[in-house]
Amino acid sequence: MKINSIELNNFRNISSIKLEATDGVNVIYGENAQGKTNILEAIWLFTGCKSFRGAKDPEFIKFGEEIAKINLSFSDNVRDKKSEIVFGNKKKNVSLNGISLRSSAELIGSFYGVIFSPAHLSLIKDGPSERRKFLDTALCQLKPSYAEHLAGYRRSLMQRNALLKDIHLNSQLYDMLDSWDESLARYSAAVISERLKYIDILSQYSKEIYSGISEYKEDFSVAYSRKDITDINISVHDLYLNELEKIKEAKKEDILMRSTTVGPHRDDLDIKINNVSARSFGSQGQQRSCALALKLGESEIIKKITGETPVALLDDVMSELDEKRQDYVLNHINDRQVFLTCCDPSQVLRLCTGKSFLIKGGKLI
Ligand code: ATP
Ligand code: MG
Repeated sequence: MKINSIELNNFRNISSIKLEATDGVNVIYGENAQGKTNILEAIWLFTGCKSFRGAKDPEFIKFGEEIAKINLSFSDNVRDKKSEIVFGNKKKNVSLNGISLRSSAELIGSFYGVIFSPAHLSLIKDGPSERRKFLDTALCQLKPSYAEHLAGYRRSLMQRNALLKDIHLNSQLYDMLDSWDESLARYSAAVISERLKYIDILSQYSKEIYSGISEYKEDFSVAYSRKDITDINISVHDLYLNELEKIKEAKKEDILMRSTTVGPHRDDLDIKINNVSARSFGSQGQQRSCALALKLGESEIIKKITGETPVALLDDVMSELDEKRQDYVLNHINDRQVFLTCCDPSQVLRLCTGKSFLIKGGKLI
């Protein structure tokens, strides 16, 4: 996967910019608050996933403007492609090779990228919701069917929770819970099954990568946190029965709490270094390396499953790593196109060759 050029118009603080990219490392540099991350964010949106900053569409439009437009020209293993996203006041238009798509989600599978930014440290440091978000985003980019299962799960969960609240007002609603339990268990099984398979592969890749980062001095592991599922090759049907049983067991508590207390929306990942929790005991550097190992592992999985090497988007990552780790990261991704932001490019260009772009006040200098 390779970007040929990216063009932004009235996107965040950028009035108009066009970057002609090189196949290797593209260094986007400049002082703080000039628009470097904004460029990576625009590229990322072509994966079909939501902003890695959690931004909503209207936030992309430059203050005082009505429309923002971003264009990507890229090539996969087979052919050249062009995509355009136009953000209007209430509407968004997305197209691929001149053909209109119904939503950004339809871009999934056309352009592959992996983003790593300092915010990804929250993957290790923060609560379970960050780790679920990581898993869900990675899986949605790989499998549109996962996004459907997840949406179905969220719908069922919302409706079951609404019912749990209403039961307190009208006990006759109790009988309706059974049908929501079944629907919830069905979607839950589909979601967990995909997550288990994904984590199984991810754990192998990221273990290897972490070993490399730590110069083979530390051991890394990541596992899905459900103690009740001992066989990761469990069938979807057996998972369904398992989930249904758990939901039924938790029914009394759910009614008391007025919300669903078990299921994939409560699950987590156990990330360990040398067999102890990375979140509780990891040093700053170890936690950073864990997040990097997970993100680089994600990239390896996309490569393995799709045959396409995702473009690596590294936002301000190098400044947080010592020279050995910088070296490892750049060596590890020297087989692909990279977009990397930093304040001082000399640090990176010492370790590799590439093209550099100076950004100042939303303009390419
Ligand atoms: P840093 O080195 O600090 O990470 P950066 O170059 O990556 O800086 P960006 O995150 O790209 O900076 O943001 C650049 C500027 O864009 C910010 O000052 C922000 O206020 C501005 N900005 C964000 N959204 C909009 C918008 N919709 N319209 C105009 N400006 C915006
Ligand atoms: Mg930035």
